[in-house]
Amino acid sequence: MRLSRYFLPTLKENPAEAQIVSHRLMLRSGMIRQEAAGIYAWLPLGFRVLQNIEQIVREEMDRAGAIELLMPTLQLADLWRESGRYDAYGPEMLRIKDRHERELLYGPTNEEMITEIFRSYVKSYRNLPVNLYHTQWKFRDEQRPRFGVMRGREFLMKDAYSFDLDEAGARLSYNRMFVAYLRIFARLGLKAIPMRAETGPIGGDLSHEFIILAETGESGVFIDKNVLDLPVPGEDVDYDGDLTPIIKQWTDLYAATEDVHDAERFAREVPEERRVATRGIEVGQIFYFGTKYSQAMKAVVSGPDGVERPVHGGSYGVGVSRLVGGIIEASHDDNGIIWPEGVAPFKVGLVNLKVGDAEADAACNELYEKLTKAGVSVLYDDTDERAGAKFSNMDLIGLPWQLVVGPRGLKSGVVELKNRATGERIELSPEAALNKLT
Ligand code: ATP
Ligand code: MG
Ligand code: MG
Ligand code: MG
Repeated sequence: MRLSRYFLPTLKENPAEAQIVSHRLMLRSGMIRQEAAGIYAWLPLGFRVLQNIEQIVREEMDRAGAIELLMPTLQLADLWRESGRYDAYGPEMLRIKDRHERELLYGPTNEEMITEIFRSYVKSYRNLPVNLYHTQWKFRDEQRPRFGVMRGREFLMKDAYSFDLDEAGARLSYNRMFVAYLRIFARLGLKAIPMRAETGPIGGDLSHEFIILAETGESGVFIDKNVLDLPVPGEDVDYDGDLTPIIKQWTDLYAATEDVHDAERFAREVPEERRVATRGIEVGQIFYFGTKYSQAMKAVVSGPDGVERPVHGGSYGVGVSRLVGGIIEASHDDNGIIWPEGVAPFKVGLVNLKVGDAEADAACNELYEKLTKAGVSVLYDDTDERAGAKFSNMDLIGLPWQLVVGPRGLKSGVVELKNRATGERIELSPEAALNKLT
């Protein structure tokens, strides 16, 4: 992408309304625009990051055996009357009437709808287990939307729903999602810690929140700091095998949010020098809720004995849009964002120090074409801004690599490659730079 033809409305000034660094940097780097309280348009740069995160989540869900579909954002109120949640959900639910006075709602989550789909088609234990997921916009009329996309009202969530014949099977499904979540957050460059959690309006008795540590987080958390060094399963993890050793390793060490924190146990189990009390951002949550929805909504299957019984369910959410802010909270410096390579909007920022100089233009064009052909995403700053402004812009938007090309370097056959994360700069030939980046 050539910057001269791109749409990247960056801001010079710090927006006054942004209280935390990720919100400030997302506005300054032209990633989002607020259209109403807690409702954002995703501008091109932000949209690329959102899509990259969605894709990583998709790959790991698929690897764990989940199957993607897409449910609508609007749902019938009657569906939620079946589960009893239409009244229980309260003012966070956006309720709508169509021209025929039919009551609808903008989905805050999809347990009811997926249960309705499931019960319409699946009648036998032979078709179990199954885990269906989608990545779709949700609406929750949050009392205090704030911190940009971290607590929006309209936000993008990946939500998965598992169905099993019995509790033992459902726990296996739960464990698969637990492991998939470890992998998702690690691939996003995050240390997300699974913590025992309350189940809230989803219901049920087994749940973990996945939380990244950040001073600006909304939850107080207490952890054994050894949990930060636990290994994340590789992509060769066998989802059909026994995952309990992995789950045990991650759940044996103390890690809990303030809602379920047990100060006595914390003091007893964790040596003082390993006790960490800090704050965190919830980026995902998994639930086992048993037959809560299947019983209310009559989602039953026949077992091997021919007897019908309600299926055991779980649901599994990832805050895809919240993660954009969460990753920035975890990865930035005074100059701007530092994208982990897996989610960066472009891998390389190509900076032409002297647009109009025949040699610099030719060298940049060649690098741009070769990188693009090799499948490397490049944002080429071909504008006539001064060099200083180009550098600070590149630092602000945080692409992992900056490739700087100017007439002076080219005279001695070199370009400069800067690593955004380490700040390290090296001079090398254009060919060597290509080799390093492809
Ligand atoms: P929170 O405690 O932050 O209100 P939640 O527990 O209500 O979140 P869940 O129902 O567990 O949220 O939804 C799954 C995921 O969706 C959360 O872990 C979070 O990452 C994301 N999420 C929830 N509410 C919002 C929101 N208002 N804006 C952005 N992301 C959200
Ligand atoms: Mg909430
Ligand atoms: Mg929560
Ligand atoms: Mg939650």
